[in-house]
Parts: sequence; structure tokens; C-alpha cells
Amino acid sequence: MSQISIKGVKKSYGKTEVVHGVDVEIEAGEFVVILGPSGCGKSTLLRMIAGLEAISAGEISIGGKVVNDLEPRERGCAMVFQNYALYPHMTVRQNIGYSLKVAKVAKPQRDARVMAVAQSVGLETFLDRRPGELSGGQRQRVAMARAMVREPKVFLFDEPLSNLDAKLRVAMRAEVRRLHRELGVTSVYVTHDQIEAMTLADKIMIMNAGNVEQIGRPTDVYNHPASRFVADFIGSPAMNLVEGEFDAEGLFAHGQGGRMNVAGLNGHRVPGRRVVLGVRPEAVRRVGPETANAIAATVDYVEELGAARLIHADMQGSRIVAVDTGTGHLPTGTPIHLALNDSALHVFSMEDGQRIGHA
Ligand code: ADP
Repeated sequence: MSQISIKGVKKSYGKTEVVHGVDVEIEAGEFVVILGPSGCGKSTLLRMIAGLEAISAGEISIGGKVVNDLEPRERGCAMVFQNYALYPHMTVRQNIGYSLKVAKVAKPQRDARVMAVAQSVGLETFLDRRPGELSGGQRQRVAMARAMVREPKVFLFDEPLSNLDAKLRVAMRAEVRRLHRELGVTSVYVTHDQIEAMTLADKIMIMNAGNVEQIGRPTDVYNHPASRFVADFIGSPAMNLVEGEFDAEGLFAHGQGGRMNVAGLNGHRVPGRRVVLGVRPEAVRRVGPETANAIAATVDYVEELGAARLIHADMQGSRIVAVDTGTGHLPTGTPIHLALNDSALHVFSMEDGQRIGHA
């Protein structure tokens, strides 16, 4: 039985529907990330699970019980927000223990519980400080400790790390992952950051404009994106998406008179149908002109990444990015040849962006 079951859930504000019908099953102990661009409905969905927003249609169950009409505090969820929402006048100890105090847990048990949770997030030496005397990362730890102290059945995270600087985000990401491993509590985590989603999730749910585009493991959504949207959203640098069509000879016609011989993709080359060919930059490599199916291109510019570099090139009128480990100087306009990895190609429909097939 799933821990959280969401069936046909919709949300409207007035006449405007912003979540169009979400179905997802979240297993006990699973870490699920809801990923998507700003405004796609991620927070609204999370807030509907928490009970902070009423749902307009559908059903949400937690632990086998329909919670549509339950108050937030009756749902067994604890929420961690981006803005921490700590009480500024209370110490760390009081902030963490507040919900236990409200629940009338006796002081000795409360203190023991606060100490145990503080230790698990590395806050035991900060218990007498106030939030104003802590760094951003420490405040975020207090917010997590405060959620953990109630021993909830479900953790709900709403962009908890977006106020932190890049380095701290990476450290806190590892911390969230470690806590999840140790506590094993079912978690739903909202973010617009695809790297955060890829590194944290057991299962990613990608949303776009109020719809679910795909639900799958990080490797599934990376290797088998269900739509052009997912292909473009997951992965950095983003997947190359080249618009065109296969001609009668099976060559891919694109850009300004470009004709590519792409092997693989058998059965997905319908002549005359406008499609989008997808290939990740790491599946495009620089080759010599004698290589079979080498594609002529010219360098636009090169981006150094340290371990490798990205060659941005013009390929017969279409733009393409290749990961390259070479070192030679490549000024703008340099003629080069590229080859696509035949077993890493994707084809999407031009009309609705849905996946047609992959090699
Ligand atoms: P996300 O978390 O993905 O950035 P939200 O769930 O916050 O997106 O918002 C989804 C959509 O719902 C947006 O278009 C937003 O403007 C709209 N929305 C959110 N809250 C309200 C509200 N209280 N009243 C009207 N529209 C809202």
C-alpha cells in the first residue's frame, strides 16, 4: 500500500485551474521530488498534501486514509519551508521543542527529544542561541530539527535550500539525503533545481503548467525523457534539440539545407513528419572528417568547464553543443566535424512534444 496516494487531484483559484489532474503513488519510505519551473503548480500540490490548500477535485490519502477533509495537524505531515519560519525571540532549543510543548509533552522527555534531534543535525552546541545568531545553513538545520522532533509520518519540503549559497546547498543536500537514509521517513520535496532533484530523489515527478510530464527514477527521466519538455529540463548542459524531418532516403533534413545520416532510430524515421531530434551534448563528439557519418560544422564559441569544454557550433544552420576533452585553440569559424552517438538519440513529436522513440 502506498503511503501517499494522489488521485485526479485538481486545483482552481476562482475560474483558473492551475493543477489539472495529478495521479501519483508514493511508497512508504520513498523520497519523491516534484520538479518544474516556477509557476507550474509544485507548491500548490505540496500544500494540498499538507492540507494548507483545499483541493478542487480528486482524492488524497495518507497511510490508507482519505485526508481531503482533515486539518493539517491531523495528517501526520511536517513541513520544512524555504524561509525557515523560525520564531526569532525563541532559542534554538525552544524553537525545536515548541510543538512538543504545545502537545503538553513533559519537560524531561521534551528536553531529551530535543537533544537527540539536535545531535542528529549537528546543532547540540547551538541550543541556547537565537535564530538571529545563526548562519543560513544552521537556521535551515533548526527548521529540519523542528520538523523531525514530531516524528512525522511524512516530511514535506518546499524549496528548503533555495536561500542558501551554492556551496552550502550542496552540503545541505547531502545532509537531507543522510537524514532520509537514517530516518526512512516518506518525503516529498519541491524544487525547480534539476540537479537537486537528480541527486536527492528516488522518484522524480516533473510538472509543466499544472500537468505531470513524467514520473520516474532519475536515470529513467534522464535516459528516457517522455517529452521534449523533460528532455530540455533535465540535464546540464541541456539536450540538443534539432527540428527537422526525415526525407525519403532516411536522412534527417534540418537547418538550412542540412542533411544528416543518423544510424539507429530504425522504425522511428517516418518520412515527411516534422520531428525534433534530441541528443545530449555528451553524446556528440568531435571526429576527423574521414569518420563515417561525420557532420561538418563550424565553431561558434567554446565554454571552458575545467575538466572538459563545451563546443557551441553551427551545424548546417542548426545549433549544436558538444562536450569535448581536447585542448587545441578553436576560434570562432573553425571548421570541425562532429559525430552523434547512434545509441543515444531521441525523437519527439513536433506537434505535442511527446516522445516518438529512441535509439
Ligand atoms: P510553483 O510552486 O511551481 O512555482 P505554485 O504552485 O506556487 O507554482 O503556483 C501555481 C500557479 O497557481 C501559478 O500560476 C500561481 O500564480 C497560481 N497561484 C498560486 N497561489 C495562488 C493564489 N492563492 N491565488 C491565485 N493564484 C495562485
